[in-house]
Amino acid sequence: MTETKTTFRIAIIGSGPAAFYAADELLKQTDMPIEIDMFEKLLTPYGLVRGGVAPDHQNIKAVTKIYERIAGKSGFRFFGNVTLGVDLQKEELLPGYHAVLYAVGAQGDRKLDIPGEDLAGSYSARDFVGWYNAHPDYRECKFDLSVKRVAIIGLGNVALDVARILGHSPAELAKTDIADYAQAALKTSKIEDIYIIGRRGPVQAAFTPAELRELRELEACDVRIDPEEMVLEDISLEELSQAHRNVQLHMDILKMIAETPPGTKPRRIHFMFKRSPLEVQGNQRVERLKLARNELLLQQEQVKIQLTENYQELEVDCIFRAVGYRGIAIPGVAFDPVKSVIPNRSGRVIDPETLEILPGEYVAGWAKRGPSGVVGTNKHDAQETVHHLLEDLKNPVHHPEETNRGFAESLLNQKKIEFATFTDWKVLDDAEKSLGEQHGKPREKFSEVDQMLDVIRHRDS
Ligand code: NAP
Repeated sequence: MTETKTTFRIAIIGSGPAAFYAADELLKQTDMPIEIDMFEKLLTPYGLVRGGVAPDHQNIKAVTKIYERIAGKSGFRFFGNVTLGVDLQKEELLPGYHAVLYAVGAQGDRKLDIPGEDLAGSYSARDFVGWYNAHPDYRECKFDLSVKRVAIIGLGNVALDVARILGHSPAELAKTDIADYAQAALKTSKIEDIYIIGRRGPVQAAFTPAELRELRELEACDVRIDPEEMVLEDISLEELSQAHRNVQLHMDILKMIAETPPGTKPRRIHFMFKRSPLEVQGNQRVERLKLARNELLLQQEQVKIQLTENYQELEVDCIFRAVGYRGIAIPGVAFDPVKSVIPNRSGRVIDPETLEILPGEYVAGWAKRGPSGVVGTNKHDAQETVHHLLEDLKNPVHHPEETNRGFAESLLNQKKIEFATFTDWKVLDDAEKSLGEQHGKPREKFSEVDQMLDVIRHRDS
């Protein structure tokens, strides 16, 4: 008599890189049969690869070809338009799955916590990124691009993405998959000067060399650094001498920029280091930024800032806060408000108070470790979580009550939730690509939920 093996059913929440790498790892192993239901709050998959990666970074977006192959494997299903904590609760999912794996990213952003931060003209980079990437939740955001001088706070890759998108010429943007309304708004932009402001020095910048190099390639925007900004104090010289090759590389590029005589392109990006924003000033809207010059000091082997009383006022018409993302709590799911992550031990979710492992719950990606690293970083991260999940399945502590494959559909139908399957997404994908082709773009993205549902419903008509 042949023994029938249990098919283990896993729910993955989210459909960005961490979610797909986790699905891949689960479906690749051959020890136990696995089925995956991936739940995503949008109608479209791929998380930040679609909604975060800049529209001029099609090479990075090409990773979705790998995710599409994973989605094509038997045992994989996609349920779009389903929000955990809103449409479905964790308690409703756990009875139908051997494990629930959260890969929900970091849905909020850090604040500067300074006076004037909420004045009109002070924008979150996250909103701007969602807006230009046609994310339905951000399409209604408004950015006044009729101004001349903008400041971007932060020295990470998001700051550089924002600067590059603002610096691009209309012709450069026309070749990307930027949202049509953002393309139109940026075409009439009057922005001339873009200040990228970092609280620490050039050595401590968080951006990567490739992203920095791209700024120098903009056809209508120069990059400038006052050579004074590149004078390094002993702490930075010491750090640089032991730094990762990427830091040496980005320093070489920054030095090259500082040594290049000013160009004559109509727009300019200026880097300013060792300055902290103290206040956003203005009457009703942003007019200037009060900055303090900083000194660097070493504290517990980390380079920190010491504000000085050497102040500077910078006339700017708007600011973009690009000081990092932050996880936010999902109703009913464990959350660590200090680290802004789902508390976990190497991917196993724990109760934040008792620190005990919560059976059947796992986490991967930014929700697990915080918003750091590039797309590929999530692969190793997801593998670690899945390794523990598979280990636990051998001696399970969580036992689902229902394990039939119809569980998800009947739950969603019962709740009257109109979900999208992966086939539905492919209908949208094809429609976006063919619309894009008409405009010479890789795709023309849909940004309205109703419009997308309409395309799905009328696919054959
Ligand atoms: P990030 O890399 O953490 O950079 C945040 C920046 O904000 C840092 O320079 C930080 O300075 C600064 N900052 C934080 N609090 C501040 C404050 N109160 N005042 C002034 N400055 C402050 O975050 P991110 O740029 O949002 O990027 C998130 C992740 O996505 C990163 O891992 C990034 O590499 C990745 N990403 C990658 C790409 C790409 O590969 N092309 C594109 C976009 C994003 P300190 O260093 O002093 O804290």
